[in-house]
Amino acid sequence: MDSLHSKPHVALLSSPGIGHLTPVLELSKRLVANHGFHVTVFSVTTTTTTTAPPPPKPKTATTTTLDLVDIFELHVDISGLVNPNAPFVARVGVTMRESLPILRQAISGMDPRPTILVVDIFGTEAMKIADEFDMSKYVFITTSAWVFAFCVFVPTLDDEVEGEYVDLQEPVKIPGCNPVRVEDLVDPMLDRRSQQYFEFLRTCKGYLSFDGVLVNTWEDLERPTLKAFRENGILKQILKAPIYPIGPLIKRVGSSGSRSELLDWLDLQPCQSVLYVSFGSAGTVSAKQITELAWGLELSQQRFIWVLRPPMEKNGPHDLNGCDDVANYLPDGFLSRTHKLGLVVPMWAPQEEILGHRSVGGFLSHGGWNSSLESILSGLPMIMWPLYAEQKMNAAMVVEELEVGVRVVQLSEMVEREEIAKFVRMVMEGREGEAMRTRVKELQCSGERALIENGSSYESMCELARDFEMKLK
Ligand code: UDP
Repeated sequence: MDSLHSKPHVALLSSPGIGHLTPVLELSKRLVANHGFHVTVFSVTTTTTTTAPPPPKPKTATTTTLDLVDIFELHVDISGLVNPNAPFVARVGVTMRESLPILRQAISGMDPRPTILVVDIFGTEAMKIADEFDMSKYVFITTSAWVFAFCVFVPTLDDEVEGEYVDLQEPVKIPGCNPVRVEDLVDPMLDRRSQQYFEFLRTCKGYLSFDGVLVNTWEDLERPTLKAFRENGILKQILKAPIYPIGPLIKRVGSSGSRSELLDWLDLQPCQSVLYVSFGSAGTVSAKQITELAWGLELSQQRFIWVLRPPMEKNGPHDLNGCDDVANYLPDGFLSRTHKLGLVVPMWAPQEEILGHRSVGGFLSHGGWNSSLESILSGLPMIMWPLYAEQKMNAAMVVEELEVGVRVVQLSEMVEREEIAKFVRMVMEGREGEAMRTRVKELQCSGERALIENGSSYESMCELARDFEMKLK
């Protein structure tokens, strides 16, 4: 066999959004660099779902080390197929289904044909294609094992629970894992008659048919949950496939050498003095809340970098390409009053580089899983301000279980400035912040340890690689 045919060719399918593509690319890089596999990434995009910089262009040539991963963009137009204002889960379901014919065509033309298909959390329907081409099928969970445990248990809940989940009197118990408070349930669970619930349930059922499950977590971070998947118990009976905790797979700061004004500004600030504020690649809050957040930051008198997007009313929470002057949403005179304290950056900032800078001391985040991991791996305590998807569960885990953050709870239309300022001060200069910083640095070390030789995630990746090789034989 030549080298191209002696190692498995692994195809990975990434659903739309930088929060999915980033961990998929990180996994791909490791499969190439550490295990010598041939890897092709299929990145599904639509015109309506991303505010992030566009994903890498389709490539077939192999150029640099990173580019040993071939990346194909599968562009899908879903206009007319789903209401553009429908919730993300409903839109992504349609998008992924529409991408299947293009994926099928691409795989059928490949030589060597991939023998393994790894899909991410929204790619379960591509299993059909894996079956058609006799490929082994794996799912890569780009969130926590706890959220995945919940998903695996959703079909059982669907059978057992009558009425709406939001009317439950008690938290939802997942066997062997922490319970989930009703108010922290993922969005699609809020209305059992909605299209997004239907899509979500279908996705959760799909998880039960894979040959293996990769999760962007590590043993020390989620030991009890991972144990619940392995020990003979209800979860193990529901999910028979092996589970591979292979994280933390986060984007590593590149050595591009290019310096932005942001980083130059950070260089001038005292150590751990700057709060980074960002609601992920697509999140935003109302216009009134943006104004109140600005007042809260000013009131706290802490340094900040704030990645600001137009409010929800302007474009809807996930469609923020219409870039207007975000300063319009700030209180009069805010920028001049705070020009020595902080920077407001419209739309997008190099998050990894900012979090890794020594001047940054905390992260006010929407609680996306990638952002949470990036914060932990930078040793930064968090202010969790969850907005949608599984972010409330992430907030519960970060705050109550890991104890490395505080949580903004939105009980009314708006979180008041005094409350915001209190949280900012608590994390940046309070004793609670100090204690969280100590704990988060321990987690940072455990995450780093998991990835190095003999670390739990390193070993898990090796086991996965051996399984992939076995499938070739
Ligand atoms: N991100 C970034 N700059 C921004 C906003 C987001 O680099 O201005 C990156 C961030 O580092 C993370 C990803 O986008 O890797 C967002 O993923 P996450 O799971 O945190 O949230 P999502 O955007 O999927 O809700």
